[in-house]
Amino acid sequence: MDVLPTIAQVRQARRRAGPLGFVPTMGFLHAGHLSLVERARAECGAVAVSIFVNPTQFGPNEDLSRYPRDMERDLRLLRDAGVDFVFTPQPAEIYPQGFEASIDMGAVTRVLEGASRPGHFAGVATVVAKLFNIVQPSRAYFGQKDAQQCVVVRRLVRDLDIPVEVIVAPTVREADGLAMSSRNSYLTPDQRAEAPVVYQALSAARTLFDAGERDAQALRHAMLAHIATARLADPDYVSVADPQTLAELDTVEEGALLSMAVRFGKTRLIDNLVLPPSPEPRNGGLSA
Ligand code: AMP
Repeated sequence: MDVLPTIAQVRQARRRAGPLGFVPTMGFLHAGHLSLVERARAECGAVAVSIFVNPTQFGPNEDLSRYPRDMERDLRLLRDAGVDFVFTPQPAEIYPQGFEASIDMGAVTRVLEGASRPGHFAGVATVVAKLFNIVQPSRAYFGQKDAQQCVVVRRLVRDLDIPVEVIVAPTVREADGLAMSSRNSYLTPDQRAEAPVVYQALSAARTLFDAGERDAQALRHAMLAHIATARLADPDYVSVADPQTLAELDTVEEGALLSMAVRFGKTRLIDNLVLPPSPEPRNGGLSA
């Protein structure tokens, strides 16, 4: 496996590779990231991963400086997973002096995560566009865990005619339902013990939907009521939205996106679930 810190090296490696699968990450890898790598491995002749904690997608009061990092361990995991090359740029490689570009993907970036984290998706869209231009993958793999990011990236590729096939893979969870996330490492033992309430709240809303509830506000209330049972959990938002436009729904439709952000102390966790189209079984949804 080649570890490549510069764009020139990546371009050279790209010329040698055939059909290339690409998994962009911010590192501190877990089984969620590795599921994307495995999928890419199974579907593409060669696999590239990037590890880059992108400063422009963090707000001024967010966790950029304390975001967890362990490059040695990450590279070991990626080598074992059969990755062909890893792009490990320094910020100045991506944002040289004088860099000013920023991609605004419009309305879908202003709601949910975008409302709580202004500028976040401009940072995401811009770095993903750059990474796609640098790595030039045939396919790129993203996790349903970051549902809004998936919507933004799909639109980016469509609106800017980027010749990359975007694949969204299911959320990988801990045994107790907590969605795997690098940020879970911030949780204190008490917070970690309560964190499964996030997925439980989403699941409670799905149970209501399965029982025939179609009032979106009833689902939002059910999610909030469930979160309220956890002493350390402080909801930022709960949402029942159209999966493409991310507009809030009045009446719940099949395929609707249930999502939420919940704070545990300084740590903000996000999770989501896509309501299945009936009459498919529950786990026919994207985020099973
Ligand atoms: P990150 O390093 O958090 O930027 O994540 C890199 C990629 O891994 C993104 O496409 C994420 O959506 C995806 N990812 C993160 N956590 C999970 C998870 N628990 N299951 C599946 N994919 C995930």
